Amino acid sequence: NQLTSQQAIDLENKYGAHNYHPLPVVLSRGEGVHVWDVEGKQYYDFLSAYSAVNQGHCHPKIIGAMTNQAQTLTLTSRAFYNDMLGKYEKFACEFFGFDKLLPMNTGAEAVETALKICRKWAYEVKGIDENQAEIIVCENNFHGRTTTIISFSNDPVARKNFGPYTKGFIKIEYDNLEALEYALKNNPNVGGFLVEPIQGEAGVYVPSEGYLIKAKALCEKYNVLFIADEVQTGIARTGKLLAVNHENVNPDILILGKALSGGAYPVSAVLANDNVMNVIKPGNHGSTFGGNPIAAAVAIAALTVVKEENLSNNAETLGQLFRSEINKYIETSNIATLVRGKGLLNAIVINDDEDSDTAWNICLALRDNGLLAKPTHGNIIRFAPPLVISEDQLLDCVRIIIDTLKQFEG
Ligand code: PMP
Repeated sequence: NQLTSQQAIDLENKYGAHNYHPLPVVLSRGEGVHVWDVEGKQYYDFLSAYSAVNQGHCHPKIIGAMTNQAQTLTLTSRAFYNDMLGKYEKFACEFFGFDKLLPMNTGAEAVETALKICRKWAYEVKGIDENQAEIIVCENNFHGRTTTIISFSNDPVARKNFGPYTKGFIKIEYDNLEALEYALKNNPNVGGFLVEPIQGEAGVYVPSEGYLIKAKALCEKYNVLFIADEVQTGIARTGKLLAVNHENVNPDILILGKALSGGAYPVSAVLANDNVMNVIKPGNHGSTFGGNPIAAAVAIAALTVVKEENLSNNAETLGQLFRSEINKYIETSNIATLVRGKGLLNAIVINDDEDSDTAWNICLALRDNGLLAKPTHGNIIRFAPPLVISEDQLLDCVRIIIDTLKQFEG
């Protein structure tokens, strides 16, 4: 029998490790841009599971592919071939324009995989002395929470008391080409530059125009791999298939996750061309579930939906509409100071301190008003609906957001 929201929250708080701080809402159903809580209240989902549910909740094509495959073959491990993986790899390589794909399950795993590929490339192709390779990363990055990834995180909550940290990372300011060139020039052991084309968790921080293409050129100049973490920005979210497409950048290594499955299943991947990916040999890397037949079927369906439903264009058009409507409100608002983003990955900056409760309280009020969003900081709220949202729905949401913000005007 169905639990009430409070009962579900109490159970989770009693038996679940306290490793998250969820907004108090208990969801039990989703369809398209909507989710419902256990009491049947309907919400617009403006988090999309951190940009995983780009294709909308429970997309029939994706769920159909998943359930079909689940009735046929679910897992072989990589001890054997399965008849779906090669098809998916070909499909995805052609879709994104790379020679090879290495399948993983989660975003953080794919980032770890990319770091390993980069290090091995640095030793075997670039000729860096063993155990000396370094990778340049950016301040305020978010790439996951494994022991290696938190070694170069800025977030004290993710880092403190989890050391000793993994060596071999050089941290530079994001959106700063001089810092990148300085680091490249002064550190001959650098093998790669790992970057988010837009920093999502940092509060949807969009770098200056031209940053990515110029950073790519610097990487080429110093023979260093440009590694794009598009786990959050990829797959139509920012109005192009990939956020790097806005500047016609071809990364040497591309990291995907989240929307690669439309949120239906954990699927992530690392893509690269042969000159890089061929450093990986049998036994170097793997995972029991990576590349399983359900993941393969789901990912093909999820990418097909992105193309068939023109989700990049929808994200581009409705993202502009979102920002222009919010900007009109900001002109006369004393609670919202800025809207920024690309496509349907946006954030509104609130007129308060970074460590205030204001953004959280606004999100609680948004929830009461039928829209779910989550702060990235005490003064920043990210807005990222499924990309299948219609113009009417988006305008309805803009109205809810503005009405809610007005409740907080001083
Ligand atoms: N990279 C980026 C840019 C992300 O935004 C995230 C998740 N928010 C990750 C990696 C980690 O993905 P996962 O939670 O699936 O491990």
